[in-house]
Amino acid sequence: MDISDLTKLKNKEIVNDLRGWVDTIRHHGGLMFFELRDHETKVQIVTDNPEQFDNLKNEFYVSVTGNLVKRKKENVNKEVLFGDLEIELSNLEIISESKTLPFQIEDNIETDEQIRLKHRYLDIRRKEMNNNIIARSNTFKSIREVMNKLNINELDTPTLIKSTPEGAKDFIVPSRKSPGTFYALPQSPQMYKQLFMLSGLKNYYQIAKCYRDEDSRKDRQPEFTQLDIEISNGDPKTVQKIIESTMKHVLKTVYSIEVKTPFTKITYDEAMSLYGTDKPDLRIKETITDFTNIFMDTEISFIKETIKNNGTVRGFLINKLLSRSEIDNLDELLKNEGSPGLGWFKIENKKVSGPLAKILNEKENNELVKNDNCTMLFQSGKQAESSHYLDTLRRKIYSIPSENSYEFVWIDDFPYFEIENGELQPSHHPFTSPKDTSEFLSNPNDAKALHYDLVLNGIELGSGSQRINDPKLQKEVLSKWGLSETEINDRFGWFIEALSYGSPQHAGFAVGIDRFIAEMMNADSIRDVIPFPKTQSGLDPLNNAPSNLSILELQEYNISIESIENEE
Ligand code: ASP
Repeated sequence: MDISDLTKLKNKEIVNDLRGWVDTIRHHGGLMFFELRDHETKVQIVTDNPEQFDNLKNEFYVSVTGNLVKRKKENVNKEVLFGDLEIELSNLEIISESKTLPFQIEDNIETDEQIRLKHRYLDIRRKEMNNNIIARSNTFKSIREVMNKLNINELDTPTLIKSTPEGAKDFIVPSRKSPGTFYALPQSPQMYKQLFMLSGLKNYYQIAKCYRDEDSRKDRQPEFTQLDIEISNGDPKTVQKIIESTMKHVLKTVYSIEVKTPFTKITYDEAMSLYGTDKPDLRIKETITDFTNIFMDTEISFIKETIKNNGTVRGFLINKLLSRSEIDNLDELLKNEGSPGLGWFKIENKKVSGPLAKILNEKENNELVKNDNCTMLFQSGKQAESSHYLDTLRRKIYSIPSENSYEFVWIDDFPYFEIENGELQPSHHPFTSPKDTSEFLSNPNDAKALHYDLVLNGIELGSGSQRINDPKLQKEVLSKWGLSETEINDRFGWFIEALSYGSPQHAGFAVGIDRFIAEMMNADSIRDVIPFPKTQSGLDPLNNAPSNLSILELQEYNISIESIENEE
């Protein structure tokens, strides 16, 4: 019997063998109370014979027998779910004792995360964590409901694969049977799901584990979960419709939230010019304004230089007069992110003030005083560089109107390549179709891709693309990316071969499920919605993974470890 089944019993009826953990023991006026907690809820137990239960401690797992009492109205504890019920204890059997706890099983604890992860099974006994894990399970269930309704095949793919890095570094697994060779764990099932399309399957989905060995980045996990989808004869529109139906269904069934479809759609270029980011939070309605035209004949030297170099002067006109310290704080925030500084003017009673006000020419002054009692904040420079600071500024100066609104937006028409850490990288992955093949072949660095992202409240939920189904073009893309003929053949030859036997057009998408649940549950980090996550540095405090292997074990894999001295 579960605690929630107690509501089916009558007053004074006997409750036999109700099991759970002892939670919060209290003594009051010769009575002893404790709450019995099961996987779902709690109920109060009372005894007038406390001496008999002297040895009882928090988190003992017990079986309770006693009389159910429906409390009088005035005694009902409205704060708790079964606050109108109580059990008068007649017998208690201790099934399993508990050691002293490393932290209390209650919400809002301030315990170090390291300790919570070391005892994750205790951490998940806490209601807030338990709710997150149940929401995760319900999300999986709900995803499967939509996928079944849409008749999409659930198919699995291997996790020991050939190393073909997709952007991050691979996790590698040594092969014992072929010493000196290695499998990799998949960064995503990308090529396998495409192979399903080449194998004549109509569609595919999988709730897939992905592994990326990245340098510690905030709120990333080396191992994470995706809803991975691929559709034969699909294009961006088909795929986006499926993802919209999925989101709508999951939000409704798991989180009781109605969202309208189709979702808003904007291009990458629009996103960068209006919001300064490809992950805009559309709960904030204010967008970036381009002030460049005001300064075409300026005498302000750094702005003059910007305009000469095809840069822009962009920012926000705020309908209030910010104080000097408010402006200084924003300036510092941007400088910490690398900005050369925040430009500003205040317009008060039709008079412009600010460090640059004296250098304004008449035309500029006349333009600015068209507004009154407001503050203009701006960044001057190359659009690509200033966008980031304007995104930060926008999210700082405008508050989010409602925490409980959910603004989805599709971003499409991404550039094919981008520069990441000084290196040319496909902005999605190299299996993405260029938007226009001839444009791509003649000028790959400026070409667009059939790549689309889904963003929810400023968080990138997932990415997808239409795929290349022409082996020649696939080779061409890999070579424009900078791979040599030999690298292409070694790493991707098998895949290009597979594309060479009549390949249907196909497109797909992957949703980062951890991030999605974290957003829906208002969790601080994705670690709070993953049952057994790793720390920021990739360690598992629960069992100290990764750990050493003995020399004998390593020998079986033909591996020897040389200690690496730190070179000063
Ligand atoms: N494999 C891609 C990723 O993990 C998603 C896709 O293109 O379907 O981002």
